[in-house]
Amino acid sequence: MALSEFSLIERYFSRLTGHRDDVTLGIGDDCALLQCPPGKEIAVSMDTLVEGVHFFADVSPEALGFKSLAVNLSDLASMGAEPAWFTLALTLPDSDDNWLQGFASGLARAAAEHNIQLVGGDTTRGPRTISIQVHGLVEQGHALRRDAAKVGDKIYVTGSLGDAGAALKQRLENWTPPELNAQDRQYLQERLEYPAPRNHLINIIGQYVNAAIDISDGLLADLGHILERSGKGAEIQTALLPLSPSLKKLPAELARELALTAGDDYELCFTVPAGLAPALEQDCKLVTCIGEITDTNSLILKDQSGKDITLNAKQGYDHFSA
Ligand code: ADP
Ligand code: MG
Repeated sequence: MALSEFSLIERYFSRLTGHRDDVTLGIGDDCALLQCPPGKEIAVSMDTLVEGVHFFADVSPEALGFKSLAVNLSDLASMGAEPAWFTLALTLPDSDDNWLQGFASGLARAAAEHNIQLVGGDTTRGPRTISIQVHGLVEQGHALRRDAAKVGDKIYVTGSLGDAGAALKQRLENWTPPELNAQDRQYLQERLEYPAPRNHLINIIGQYVNAAIDISDGLLADLGHILERSGKGAEIQTALLPLSPSLKKLPAELARELALTAGDDYELCFTVPAGLAPALEQDCKLVTCIGEITDTNSLILKDQSGKDITLNAKQGYDHFSA
């Protein structure tokens, strides 16, 4: 690399984020030293983005920096943990100044929005790969887990579903749906490149939740994890799926399929005891009830007229499936 490893870290990452009082020692020593307040637990998660697998080689470095942290923040949101610290393992083919500048500024923007501090990492040469580990704080015993859904719970999602999937489909399949204008395409592209993790909603919705997950691999796949871990089933009313105005312009069946199966939404899916649903809906306008937890052990999809729907599409993304 033209820039030495140490000057690269110093120039781009040492002062990337603001300082938190619970960081005794940040970047620069062999380890960071962090303080966990009494009564809290640390939630830890890691996500890796590989060029050609998770992002296109020509994506803007600014968007990539933002998204690398955003997808990790989304895991903290799904557990009800408040973002605190993160580490960054960066593998780069070269030390391209423009790329590093863009990447660091996108990363810094996501970090500033969520008050999370970069406290260390590792920098190596190789095929472009970004690994981030996030650490969040949650009241002991109060994390929102996948295994706590109860029969009769209402199932909610935040925001709208399928937007990122539509953008990805346009790119991968060279698909130009006549229904979408330039503004729609721009909106969908932003949803793919700049996901908005729902951490800011946790203080409002956390108190109502039984089980939660973030939607990264598609609603059916991720809700499926809640059902499997909780040993329950669900019935989803597909007519209730929240769709953005842009997605609503597409043929209804296609929009529905994207909302159910496409990945990269980074919305939350969670279950709430039926008795608390009215209070939740009063407190938070960004959530939509899409169905109910059942004792059937299967996931049933209903259309507008109450008929069962069968989907042919692959239900979510799995790196190792054929
Ligand atoms: P060591 O050789 O002890 O593993 P390094 O030389 O890899 O340490 O890193 C020196 C310091 O810079 C450490 O505090 C490390 O956490 C930090 N660091 C290295 N790479 C990054 C990075 N990409 N982002 C943030 N901090 C980094
Ligand atoms: Mg060391």
